[in-house]
Amino acid sequence: MKKIKITALLSAILFVSTMIGCDHTDNTIDTDNLDKYIESNHTTDIQYEIPSWLTPEEKYQLNNTVSENNIVPIFTSNYKPAGDRLYYRSSTADGTSMWAYISMTTGESHLVCPDPLCKHTADTCQYLNFSMQILVDENDNTVFYTLKTITAPNATYTALCRVDTANDMIKELYRGNPQTDREYDQYIFNFISKGKIYFTNIHYSKKDDGNGNMVRTETPHFMYTDIISGETVILDNLYIDLSHGEPRYADEAYIYFLDQHNKRFYATDYNFENERDILTFEAGCQVSNLYYDKKHKMFYLSISADEMDNSMEAENTTGYICRIDENLSCEKLNMPSNSILKSYLTDDYIYYTVYDPISYGTSPRGGSSIDADGGKIYRVSLDSINSNETMQVQELVFDGEGKLFLHGSCFIINDYMYTDYYTLVKEGGMTWFRNMDKAIRINLKEKTIKWLILQ
Ligand SMILES: [Zn+2]
Repeated sequence: MKKIKITALLSAILFVSTMIGCDHTDNTIDTDNLDKYIESNHTTDIQYEIPSWLTPEEKYQLNNTVSENNIVPIFTSNYKPAGDRLYYRSSTADGTSMWAYISMTTGESHLVCPDPLCKHTADTCQYLNFSMQILVDENDNTVFYTLKTITAPNATYTALCRVDTANDMIKELYRGNPQTDREYDQYIFNFISKGKIYFTNIHYSKKDDGNGNMVRTETPHFMYTDIISGETVILDNLYIDLSHGEPRYADEAYIYFLDQHNKRFYATDYNFENERDILTFEAGCQVSNLYYDKKHKMFYLSISADEMDNSMEAENTTGYICRIDENLSCEKLNMPSNSILKSYLTDDYIYYTVYDPISYGTSPRGGSSIDADGGKIYRVSLDSINSNETMQVQELVFDGEGKLFLHGSCFIINDYMYTDYYTLVKEGGMTWFRNMDKAIRINLKEKTIKWLILQ
């Protein structure tokens, strides 16, 4: 049981599309005026398809002066806000995968490698081989923490690094064991709190059992590294084996755990004692999004039935949002839909998707290629939620029209939505969604779009 859970967790966290490619398969795509939509004239193999209601972004403009972010998206892997920066993962025009950031004040994007002359090749650029996981520094938005794969002459290591983009410095805080075919590690970032980076290490070991059979074991360790001293400690407590879920966030008083397997969200103190129950949810459901609002000290969780993800006719269409306040009491929000798939929290609105599936054809994996949310995003204002209005108005703010799909990470701030670009591929009677490894920015109010192509 435990093994299945760990594997599922890793596949979620380490998810990288294996279908990234550039073969042209659909000749009907209109690429007229392509340059208008993208930042540069770089030719790429991306097929750009744009819903009819979107036009190229001419100018980046905030609808108010607030460019600082109060919302911590705890799940989203690809967009990490820090102050007025939004860190995101994308690929350069030549296909190199890298972390970059957008200034939410100016709208401009920059690679984390600060050298404008760097060609970002393995020999010259120290900002390559970073993991998909980063944690941002609460106090300094020019600093983040990530894992880096280091290839030494005789071995490969994973190092936990502090990346200081303002001073162009990468400092190794902790170096893991050398990786071999038989002994290797996976690392999962948990959270930063009180000057320490908490993470889970899963050590895999393959051994011959004496009868010629290879036996694989997985040993999880819950650990932290002190950012200043680099001291790294393996914590010895009840929670290390992940059978009680994953620690996902921490504030001054509590460490918060999400246990998707046993369907509960709870907290412990920093001694990993005195559990406090917060929320339990139904069998067949998962927490699909988790946000923390720093300003109001509240969590927002969307809980949705698994079945909705890959069925045209799901029987269980449960989907709702819960809010947890500072005192850890939980309320189910009065939302316009009871079939919410995902949610995206901002300071003023809850944006969300609803179960409204569209099948685009036969998937190479069997079954149908299903777009569970129909490519649409709605929103409801937090004011109307807080005033306890009985009739909430569902406002449609985005429709991908079968051209843009919400299959990747997504982050919304002000009127801007940042999301991963997925395209629909049709080949040999099959249809599937392909992650193009590019980020796009859509202004939901002005109805503009821009591809954030990195140089
Ligand atoms: Zn570089």
